[in-house]
Amino acid sequence: MFKKIILLCFLLFIINSLYANTLNDTLSSLQAISPDYVTQFRFDPLFRNGVFKFGEHFCNFFISNKEGETGYLLFNNQELFDVPLPYNRDGQLTFPESFVATLTNTFTRLHENDASRFRIAAIIIDPGHGGRDSGALGTISANGRNTQVMEKDIVLKVSLALRDRLSASFPDKRILMTRNSDVFISLEQRADMANSVTARDNEAIIFISIHANSATNRNARGYEIWHITSGHRRFLLDTSRHNYSPDILAILNAMLEEEIKTESILLADAILQGFDNGFGSSLPSRGRKANDWFVVRNSRMPAVLVELGFLSNNQDAALMTSDEGLQIFVNSLYNGITNFIGIFER
Ligand SMILES: [Zn+2]
Repeated sequence: MFKKIILLCFLLFIINSLYANTLNDTLSSLQAISPDYVTQFRFDPLFRNGVFKFGEHFCNFFISNKEGETGYLLFNNQELFDVPLPYNRDGQLTFPESFVATLTNTFTRLHENDASRFRIAAIIIDPGHGGRDSGALGTISANGRNTQVMEKDIVLKVSLALRDRLSASFPDKRILMTRNSDVFISLEQRADMANSVTARDNEAIIFISIHANSATNRNARGYEIWHITSGHRRFLLDTSRHNYSPDILAILNAMLEEEIKTESILLADAILQGFDNGFGSSLPSRGRKANDWFVVRNSRMPAVLVELGFLSNNQDAALMTSDEGLQIFVNSLYNGITNFIGIFER
């Protein structure tokens, strides 16, 4: 009898060893849930606590001194499970089977929630003009010398800095540019580029065209944000993905048109607010305006066109060509876009 019990214990030990995972096994099962999500493991030997990171999610737990001890597994500081804890076996960190099952099941569920959540998948930044098309021209005077400045250079500088800020903050989103050097691109090419970006059903892409203004009245100053007019009608549905009757298609299209218009206005307002906060009274707001600009009307997504300021005005031109001024433009755009993302993804 005693021998049988010893044998049974030995068998249980073997089975248990077979069903325990190494750190690499555990990381591979997390990677299998989604190859797009970065998976990481950190361990603090002093406090004997560990953390698995899976995309934006994380879970914390303690590491036991001996096999068989249970404790908590805490996800995103919100969800708690009681599980057998990982332990050290011959100097190797070992993860019990039910620990790994709880880990992968919960992360799978969180991943599925993410996949169905509305999100901005890509941000397209469109610096206006370029190459042989200089855009608006201005002259700035410094130390008794006049220098000519061009819209295409200013908007490229702002766009590149904006791209870097957004890429650093949103590694999970695609931050794209219609041009990132001084080259000529037609308006059709810009709209085509924007429309060729793919997204899933629950994902959106936003388009931000950046320009600088000019007017014969040299006193005209300030920033303004443009979006599509409410009267403009266009066909936005991808018919290759739907085989509904023409009546239904027309209704679906009208709904999509309305949705994109509303989102464009929200985006314009968010950027306007970013500028208001960034500049205060140092640069006047000319508000949100509607016009069917080519790139705005031909990109099938929420789209705005931002006029930073007037190159024909000395104060505005000085702001757009100074390092401090450019920094405020970039911050204002960045804060506005970030706020819009927050509202959209909530
Ligand atoms: Zn322009």
